[in-house]
Amino acid sequence: MPELPEVETLVRRLSPIVGARIADAEILDGRLEVTSNMLIGASIRDVKRRAKYIVIGLGERGDLVVHLRMSGRLRLDRTEDEIPYTRMILHLDSGDSVYFINPRRLGTAALCPDGFDRNLGIEPIHSEFTPDILDDFVTASRAPIKQLLLDQRKIAGIGNIYAAEALWRAKIDPRRPANSLHSTEIAALHDGITSVLFDAIEQLGTTIGSSVSDYRSSEGSGSFQNRLAVYGRENEPCERCGTSIERVIQAGRSTCFCPACQT
Ligand SMILES: [Zn+2]
Repeated sequence: MPELPEVETLVRRLSPIVGARIADAEILDGRLEVTSNMLIGASIRDVKRRAKYIVIGLGERGDLVVHLRMSGRLRLDRTEDEIPYTRMILHLDSGDSVYFINPRRLGTAALCPDGFDRNLGIEPIHSEFTPDILDDFVTASRAPIKQLLLDQRKIAGIGNIYAAEALWRAKIDPRRPANSLHSTEIAALHDGITSVLFDAIEQLGTTIGSSVSDYRSSEGSGSFQNRLAVYGRENEPCERCGTSIERVIQAGRSTCFCPACQT
C-alpha cells in the first residue's frame, strides 16, 4: 500500500495540472462518489497530500479526494491508448489527462463539496511534529509502539513499511509498550520517523512487487526498496549487527525487526 512518501511523490508529479480546467470527465466506476457533472468546467487550484489522501482543490466545487488503498494509481498522461483498470479520467484543457487506475477497485474517489475534513493526526514531515508531541502520544499509550505508529488519528501517513524502518533506525523493539520508552528513545524514534520518511521521499518512495497492481510513482518507480533495513528482509542479516532479521505478527500485520539491536 502506498504510504506517505509514495503519495507525496505522486502529488509532486501531479503539480503540472494546477491551473488547468477539467474539460471533460469520464467516471467509469459507479462506486466512485463523484459524477462527470460535478467535475466538468472546474479549475484545479491545487493538489495536496493529507496523510495518504490526494486532495485536488476545485475551488467552490470543493475537493476531489482520492485514496489509492492497496493498488490504486493516478497517472498523468497524454496517451490515446486504453489503460487497463482505468476507473476515472479527467481530461484537462492543457492536453493532459489524469487516469485513476484502480485494478482491485479498493481505491476511492469522492467529491467533498465543503472541502476535505477528516479526523487525521499530525503530519510527521511538518515542523509541527516535534519530539515533545511524540512524547505526548507515547507516554499516553500502553499499545505496542509499532501499533501506535500506525494509528492515523495520531500520526498520519505511516504504514507498515515505514513504521518498521523507523523502529529499526531508533533501535527499538516494535513490541515494546509505548509508555515504556524513555525520553532518549523517544527522541531517537522521532529522528527515525522523520529521517526514514525524508529519505524515502528523496528516493521517490518504495516500489514493491512487479505486477500491474503495484505502486508506481506515476511515471517511473521509486527506489527506496533498495534501502530497506528490515521490511521484507526476514532471515537476512541485519546491516548493523549481522543478526538474522525476524518476523512477528502484531495485530494481524507482519513486523520485521532485528532481535539483537532493537531492544
Ligand atoms: Zn541488528
